[in-house]
Amino acid sequence: MAQKAIKALKNYVGGKWIEANTVKTEAVVNPATGEVLAYVPLSSLEDINHAIETAAEAFETWKEIPVPKRARILFKYQQLLVENHNDLAKLITLENGKNFPEAYGEVQRGIENVEFATGAPSLMMGEQLASIATDLESGIYRYPIGVIGGITPFNFPMMVPCWMFPMAIATGNTFVMKPSERTPLLANRLAELLEEAGLPSGVFNIVHGAHNVVNGILDHPQVAGISFVGSQPVAEYVYKRGTNNLKRVQALAGAKNHSIVLHDANLDNATTQIMNAAFGSAGERCMAASVVAVEESIADEFIELLTQKANEIKIGNGLDEGIFLGPVIRDKHKERTLKYIEAGKKEGASLVRDGREDEAVKQKGYFVGPTIFDHVTSEMKIWQDEIFAPVLSIARVKNLSEAIGLANKSHFANGACIFTRDGGSVRQFREKIHAGMLGVNIGVPAPMAFFPFSGWKDSFYGDLHANGKDGLHFYTRKKVITTKWV
Ligand code: NAD
Repeated sequence: MAQKAIKALKNYVGGKWIEANTVKTEAVVNPATGEVLAYVPLSSLEDINHAIETAAEAFETWKEIPVPKRARILFKYQQLLVENHNDLAKLITLENGKNFPEAYGEVQRGIENVEFATGAPSLMMGEQLASIATDLESGIYRYPIGVIGGITPFNFPMMVPCWMFPMAIATGNTFVMKPSERTPLLANRLAELLEEAGLPSGVFNIVHGAHNVVNGILDHPQVAGISFVGSQPVAEYVYKRGTNNLKRVQALAGAKNHSIVLHDANLDNATTQIMNAAFGSAGERCMAASVVAVEESIADEFIELLTQKANEIKIGNGLDEGIFLGPVIRDKHKERTLKYIEAGKKEGASLVRDGREDEAVKQKGYFVGPTIFDHVTSEMKIWQDEIFAPVLSIARVKNLSEAIGLANKSHFANGACIFTRDGGSVRQFREKIHAGMLGVNIGVPAPMAFFPFSGWKDSFYGDLHANGKDGLHFYTRKKVITTKWV
């Protein structure tokens, strides 16, 4: 089909939808069908510079708007998101591939971030001490920092942007977002609804594109802060280049999340949770379960039950009723995943369930069936690398100490879970494991909006994390005033 017949996306700058100053575009593909949904412009440096300058101008007036008035716009926005919940979820499934209930849940997580940001008037309050010395007092006031650049990944087109812009704008900053070029449709819808909620022009802007646009954000002197979420190498690059340019940067990166199943665990719960955490959203979650260390004494039973549940998974287009496992994001990503499965076999792991053999894998979309490896060791690439697909590695261990030691060998440290009924084991796990987000008897311990999203080691670069009070602090700076009453 000729490119002209399919929608070409525009950038959103200063309250207007404008064409990017580029001839370079990329197809936005429905990963369940291979159908081209739209073309996204790979905008130029000129485009991003223009958006940043527009946001810098808008900052001068937006920062003066009283905080409750800014919050009121977000209250309206929250209503609009709720009214559009179904349509937003459908759009996510269309461009990302995850099943509709998961997409619906993602929209809910995004809405919760907006709700948290409506609390800006209370959250931004300072602190005072009435007497630091005789007749002398001090107090703290909070202020926005300026233009924020937001760079987001493909796997949560709504939730991840909502970690950033609601709090950033509620606290008085202006925002320029560079959505993933693989899932840019939902971002434009978020902008339309912000406009409908009454957000003044220039406060929120979108520039579509790839590396060039990111570099433009990292280098522009009028960008004060950068929120990044994406893979580890890009997070490291963004953090280094952004901080080298003396900007405030938070960069949330990749992961390899470890679950530990002990002999006293409720195996029905553990297998259901791990099945969901490993294969839900096609394994394309930064909190996906990717390695399980299971105690040898229950390993056979655990694997049998898990495989049984994996065999029941329905694979297909996420918009169809009853589908659990949708496609991975692109054909290239599917090929990469299949290579990892082959590599795992060659490295000597036992392939318990081969997701290459599922019928759906032969369909047009980018499907990979649930794949389970047993007898995986930390020397193997399938143990070390973030595969970001429905591939689960199982390692057999003697006890909890060995399981924790094994997990801690990873340079990633995003999430970790334990399945047990024993309090002492939970405590040992909590104290010794290297990870920022822990789960006990649950598979995806992703914190809600009012808690920080807290990866450690190579899963996060920076100081203040996304969400919770960390988010508030990242998007604000303080003045401390000391007064002598004479
Ligand atoms: P990605 O790193 O490929 O892309 C993220 C963003 O960076 C996109 O907007 C992309 O355009 C841009 N980008 C990509 N390569 C670049 C380069 N060389 N220079 C400059 N910019 C570049 O990530 P993805 O594949 O879209 O998302 C999946 C990754 O995100 C996974 O690794 C996942 O673990 C991670 N993730 C982490 C969290 C977290 O909270 N830690 C949350 C969601 C996703």
